[in-house]
Amino acid sequence: MRVPYARLHLCRDHFIKYEVSRVEKTIERYGLFKRDSKLLLAISGGKDSVMLLDVLYTIRGRLNIKIGVLHIDLGINGYSEESRRVVLSICGMLNMTPIILPLRECLGYSVKEIAEKTGRKYCSVCGVIKRYITNTVGIYLGVDAVVTGHNLDDLTAYCLKEILRGNLKGALRLHPKLKGEGKLAARVKPLAEVSERETAMYVVLKGLPFMMGECSLAPPRTIEVKSREFLSSIEANHPSIKVSFYRGIIGGLEVGDTVKLRECQVCGFPSLASRCSFCRLILRATGSEKPIRVLHERIKNLQVNLT
Ligand code: AMP
Ligand code: ZN
Repeated sequence: MRVPYARLHLCRDHFIKYEVSRVEKTIERYGLFKRDSKLLLAISGGKDSVMLLDVLYTIRGRLNIKIGVLHIDLGINGYSEESRRVVLSICGMLNMTPIILPLRECLGYSVKEIAEKTGRKYCSVCGVIKRYITNTVGIYLGVDAVVTGHNLDDLTAYCLKEILRGNLKGALRLHPKLKGEGKLAARVKPLAEVSERETAMYVVLKGLPFMMGECSLAPPRTIEVKSREFLSSIEANHPSIKVSFYRGIIGGLEVGDTVKLRECQVCGFPSLASRCSFCRLILRATGSEKPIRVLHERIKNLQVNLT
């Protein structure tokens, strides 16, 4: 396996060890979480979050961490069924029981239905729902952080996109460690310095199951796709450009200002306005607060054993 930015050629076993240590170094470099932490991994079934589960499982003894796994079944036809199968399969291999929350059962509607009822874009509705549910589960379980599988290619493409749109503050959420407070769980991204090519090689070399298809609802997000292609084209001759770009942007943001949060009048969770974006979305789609209360009840009553 070639790892161009590190100028390494590794055999299968050394490549796997190298990737595990790369994640451990990212955890250390950004202080993502401490030893003895309780973590909630949000897993989609894609190669990134599958790799991350495997790596966290591998290092759980060394760091004495406890891991819970959460999968949100978004109810997207032909995509969510397969994602769920992959999640059950990888968790079965590791002898873990994932928390699976099917949106249709929890809220009465799928992502597509909520987007269509509110006239909002699928991806933005999906993002609001995923952030809200992962945070809420993390808070009720009392974890130290919610962990997601965003990789270096995702994060550098988003960084470039925010810069191109002149929204430097938008890059703040791309930091590998977003601190929590009160009912806002910390969010961390241990794959922030691992490229998409590496996550693909890792899952293939380890024979792990992963979801190959793309979301059937996702339209091509042009600036983001072009940003990815642009960064990858430069990387061909400058192998460490993505990591240095990412570190440069993130390093410059650390002194940035923090946003003041209030309590959502409907759900009591953190919000920028009097009602949080999730409650506004659900109220607009359904005209009722009931689905929000039902979701909270369901999450509160989850019986979870962390591994
Ligand atoms: P995406 O937003 O699809 O680019 O995914 C980014 C990260 O969000 C993934 O690596 C997962 O950690 C998490 N994630 C995405 N989809 C789901 C899902 N359906 N359930 C739980 N976590 C998810
Ligand atoms: Zn709310």
